[in-house]
Amino acid sequence: MTKAFDVPPLARPVVDTHCHMDVSYDDEQILPDVGQALANARKVNVTKVIQVGCDVASSKWAAETAEKFPDVFATVALHPNAAAHDPDLVNSLEQIDLLAALPQVRGLGETGLDYYRTDKEKAQAQHISFRAHIDMAIKHNKPVIIHDRDAHDDVIDTLLNYQSPETVVFHCYSGDEVMAKICADNGWYMSFAGTITFKNAKNLHEAIKVVPNDLLLVETDSPFLTPTPYRGQPNTSAHVALTVREISRLRGQSEEEICELVFSNAARVFGPF
Ligand SMILES: [Zn+2]
Repeated sequence: MTKAFDVPPLARPVVDTHCHMDVSYDDEQILPDVGQALANARKVNVTKVIQVGCDVASSKWAAETAEKFPDVFATVALHPNAAAHDPDLVNSLEQIDLLAALPQVRGLGETGLDYYRTDKEKAQAQHISFRAHIDMAIKHNKPVIIHDRDAHDDVIDTLLNYQSPETVVFHCYSGDEVMAKICADNGWYMSFAGTITFKNAKNLHEAIKVVPNDLLLVETDSPFLTPTPYRGQPNTSAHVALTVREISRLRGQSEEEICELVFSNAARVFGPF
């Protein structure tokens, strides 16, 4: 049975810095009702969202949607798992580069490395694509949004030893406290998703405590990673309210303070809004 969404509005406005409104939770192809999703989010004081592209088609959709809706901003990229299977990677990267120049496109992502779905030894295309996205982020002076799944060391190595743009965001931060300190030392943003509300996410519960105020972001990665107590149902931008409240509890900071921090940090990374 689905549990009705019943979450009081946040004390202050926040931004969902990572969502996929075009992705269906159960693989049914339905056209997203963006207006409805934004209205639902606004009810709990989630006032802006970043729609993230994962391939050329979804990046185009993100850019088009951001053009139509003033509270939506886009990022564009080939997801590492898309890059891994792209028959014409060079051409796809060129198309991402063209989209990246648009004013409503505020970042290059999600890109990075995913050794969960692709063996580390077979990840050559992911490395090529990740580096190309870093180059584009530098060229367009926009942030890079990183997908890092089971690839912490190689992602950090690329950023430190290849090159890195001025602004780096670890989307759905999944490292531990030690890695959070490395990110903090390098000025990399850490964006926390609904996973922080999971009881067994001890690494995240420790990591969140060492994230500097000015590097903290929140996101949903919707329709996935639905926070407790709505696990098993599709995630939406409105659900980020639960993540904000859990972060407030774990860090011992008021809800108002966390809202203000994540809004001003999001504006610094993805703005002007
Ligand atoms: Zn994502």
